[in-house]
Amino acid sequence: MPDIAWVNGRFVSLTEAVVSIEDRGFQFGDGVYEVVRTYKGRPFELEAHLARLERSARALELSQPYSRAQWTQHVGEGIARAAFQESKIYIQLTRGVAPRDHAYPEAATPTAVMTVRELHPLAFSARAAGVEAMTVEDIRWGRCDIKSVNLLGNVLARQQAKEAGKFETILVKDGFVTEGAVSNVMIVRAGTVFTAPEGPRILSGVTRAVVLDLARKEGLPVEERAVSSEELYRADEVFLTGTTVEVLAVVRVDSRVIGNGRPGPITQRLAARFLSRVG
Ligand code: PLP
Repeated sequence: MPDIAWVNGRFVSLTEAVVSIEDRGFQFGDGVYEVVRTYKGRPFELEAHLARLERSARALELSQPYSRAQWTQHVGEGIARAAFQESKIYIQLTRGVAPRDHAYPEAATPTAVMTVRELHPLAFSARAAGVEAMTVEDIRWGRCDIKSVNLLGNVLARQQAKEAGKFETILVKDGFVTEGAVSNVMIVRAGTVFTAPEGPRILSGVTRAVVLDLARKEGLPVEERAVSSEELYRADEVFLTGTTVEVLAVVRVDSRVIGNGRPGPITQRLAARFLSRVG
């Protein structure tokens, strides 16, 4: 099955899917997006993703061309047409096409695009052994809660990880962990799960919310508060959460081994609960 593209309400082949060079998403990164995945062919937490898309669009005063029900229908149709075993759905909404000027255009119709691609899950070996991460200074802008297509800070961070042969970059601002380049970061210390609080410094992950809920249901103490890079290094366990990484143990950060260098018991428990929740 080919990858599926959809532009402003029409399904088209990926090669025919084009947007004007005057689109503000291309010119300014003036747009927002979501990435959703399926489990057993059904989009996971679609309502939460669409709610975040609306929040991101509202924060940029970007008008929303489709209701949640309409998005749900388009996403469902894309998944059905693609017919992959599991799909990764990318949705992007921009302020539309207008002559280049930083301020908003008087009138522009938002551009909405979607792609549906086959989802290739992370190798089981990486999941079983855990992954390595490196820290870098978080140079991103002050509204990381908006899922904006302006991703240069994340792009640069991710490239550094790739060049260093690490799986993920953990971003640190003023000595405190914010999040990963494509994930949220949690640590475990003496049985308590800690993660950065919601706010302008992080993207409020859909997976983060699901995992915190699972942790609370497991009776684990959870503290949403700033975690310093020293606490990160000294943590008993570190793990990432995200649509593509799910719940993924980090066993080494920079030159420090986390715990005994293997996925810790709480990470494994939460990963197992997450699997049953999605299965
Ligand atoms: N933080 C950043 C910067 C991300 O890009 C992502 C996902 O792509 C996440 C966190 C995790 O969010 P979610 O669980 O909604 O996928």
